[in-house]
Amino acid sequence: MAERRERAYSEGVAPGRPRLTVSEVQVGEILTRASGFLRAVSSHSLQPYRGCTFGRSLCGVGCYVRQSPWVTRGREWGTFLEVRTNAALAYLASCARERAWARRRGRFSIFLSSATDPFLPQESRYGVTRSVLEAMLDEPPDELILQTHGDRVIDAVALCAELAHRCDLRVHISIESDRDRLPGLPPPAASVAARLAAAGQLRAAGLKVVVTVAPLHPIADPEGFFARIAAVADAVVIDHFIVGDGSPDGSRTRRTRLPEAMAALDPSSLGLDYRDRMVACARTIMPGRVGVSAAGFAGVFA
Ligand code: SF4
Repeated sequence: MAERRERAYSEGVAPGRPRLTVSEVQVGEILTRASGFLRAVSSHSLQPYRGCTFGRSLCGVGCYVRQSPWVTRGREWGTFLEVRTNAALAYLASCARERAWARRRGRFSIFLSSATDPFLPQESRYGVTRSVLEAMLDEPPDELILQTHGDRVIDAVALCAELAHRCDLRVHISIESDRDRLPGLPPPAASVAARLAAAGQLRAAGLKVVVTVAPLHPIADPEGFFARIAAVADAVVIDHFIVGDGSPDGSRTRRTRLPEAMAALDPSSLGLDYRDRMVACARTIMPGRVGVSAAGFAGVFA
């Protein structure tokens, strides 16, 4: 992918923490044909940014993208952000070709995003995701999955509602458990309560909302947690870091601090049978509305 760096600057952060370097870039291609586990979910992924400023929050600890040298290029995860300022134009330039390619195999389905978050704090300044969604009003995919770890997606609720008339749109909000903190790890980008509230607002606007409990963290009160999700979402997807992190045995995540923090709360949460227990619990509370791992991300619920 050809890129041209236009300018770079640093944003201030809290004292004692690494600075955030933000750069504006132009990309040649913005649609990536899905590979790995994503192939079971969508035909393409789309990253409006390279890097993720949620990288130093809770979800960034176990984030598998932080281990991608192609993305980080040696930089510390969460300390850089490349803003793909021409993402909407790049989308419009290639969507006819990529739609034709995808439809020879199934549907033109876009996962936005798998290696960053579409609704980072910087989105309010740059509006890259917004510009892409506006471009999709003219050239909609068949299916769009908006995946976020935060609650700022509600800033785009009207645009999403409009787009939902043009394509099959699902908003995935990741809420890993009912706990805001894991021992020794940073806080989440948005509290559990804020993300549940965002899910409720999106659903009230008529959008299809899925809470993705991914990667699954130890849940303090499973029945209560799934009941809260049932009240604000159409479905829930449960995914463990084993299998879910793209490695068959969870080895990517085992290289991070996440398993140790999970074990401090509940050692049994490190096994895949913990996921199965949570799935069974969710199914008693949300029958027909529970998905598991990649199939769940693809919209298969039972
Ligand atoms: S929002 Fe997604 S890409 Fe960003 S740090 Fe969290 S898990 Fe990684």
